[in-house]
Amino acid sequence: MPVVYLKKRISDRVLNGHPWIFNNEIEKWDDEVPENRVVEVFTYDKKFLGRGYINPLSRIPVRLLTRDRNEKINETFFLNRIRKCWEYREKLGYVENCRLVFGEADSLPQLIIDKFNDYFVIQTLALGIDIWKTEIVKALNTIFSPKGIYERNDVPVRELEGLPQQKGFLSAPFNTQIVIRENGLRFNVDIENGQKTGYFLDQQDNRRKINNIVKDADVLGAFCYTGTFEIHAAHYGARSVKGIDISDGAVEQAKKNAALNGLQNVCQFEAANAFDVLKQWSKEGKQYDVVMLDPPAFTKSRDTIQKAITGYKEINLRGMKLLKPGGFLVTSSCTNLVSPELFLQIIDMAAKDARRKIRQVTFQTQSSDHPVIRGIESTWYLKFLIVEVS
Ligand code: SAH
Repeated sequence: MPVVYLKKRISDRVLNGHPWIFNNEIEKWDDEVPENRVVEVFTYDKKFLGRGYINPLSRIPVRLLTRDRNEKINETFFLNRIRKCWEYREKLGYVENCRLVFGEADSLPQLIIDKFNDYFVIQTLALGIDIWKTEIVKALNTIFSPKGIYERNDVPVRELEGLPQQKGFLSAPFNTQIVIRENGLRFNVDIENGQKTGYFLDQQDNRRKINNIVKDADVLGAFCYTGTFEIHAAHYGARSVKGIDISDGAVEQAKKNAALNGLQNVCQFEAANAFDVLKQWSKEGKQYDVVMLDPPAFTKSRDTIQKAITGYKEINLRGMKLLKPGGFLVTSSCTNLVSPELFLQIIDMAAKDARRKIRQVTFQTQSSDHPVIRGIESTWYLKFLIVEVS
């Protein structure tokens, strides 16, 4: 098997468990890149570090799959790993829907699998994992006998690996408009054309957190996508709920979802740019009991981090101004480069500028089917905060 030797001076990151090896950490590799892309990695002094997959074209040429010398990378490896992923989720109480595989956090770098009851959506975001797609699909068939498997590899990050963007069936074709259940509610999920894998499972535990604060409340939800938080608010007893999203398609789905749950009289959805309307409505003096914000990631690059900070501050400031004294702001950030500490600082700045006092009710991360591994920063990405605003 081809062997990769690391340089003498490399950061402790890899030795401490991070699976990525950057090109400036590699001293040399012996032999041609094999067809299955699997290589063995050794330190400069020839100590075995692990086995991983290689793509010399990538800025991260090697990603480790195992540190166990006895573990071979083959069909059985993927079957066992995915089985373990499912056992873990089951233990945590997930029954129907969950992120079954969360890449690096499940020691399957760059592999994402979302389980929507009997349907599965896959993303293989690096060449070295893409090659094993057939074995991964086989494993899903063995463990779950699914009704359908779909590939949502229409993501730009694949191009960094020399991979095309593509989507399509990895099983017999099926109707990609499905309905899932969450917290006693039902939601339409568009597997083929919805955002990302079709549905944001990472907020599924957090959506329950609004249960008490929305009772009899007038609620505004910005960046609502298909209305999941908003429909939860109505279900938990809100008096009125307004949801806005910039995408007409998302708003249509949100309306369908409200009707699916018989909550169309409480929920109203509208296509609008949140940056514009939050500003306009706060100027007009509109007031709500609860404001919820769940924007998309504002940046993926350190070069534009300041712009992201400004964006978060702006919407949270506007959100606070729209709240009655004693109201609640429910605010999220999925920008990986905005750390939890930085996010809290931004919220503090927004409160100061809005001349409001805040008290923290809840501060947590993504739902536990997306595990966080200390030392792998990319696994701890979601910030979910509820504050009382007086
Ligand atoms: N809360 C949702 C997920 C939101 S994803 C859930 O739990 O399912 C972020 C959403 O923000 C996307 O639907 C996107 O269309 C929307 N969006 C992006 N920019 C926007 C803007 N300027 N104004 C309003 N919505 C925007």
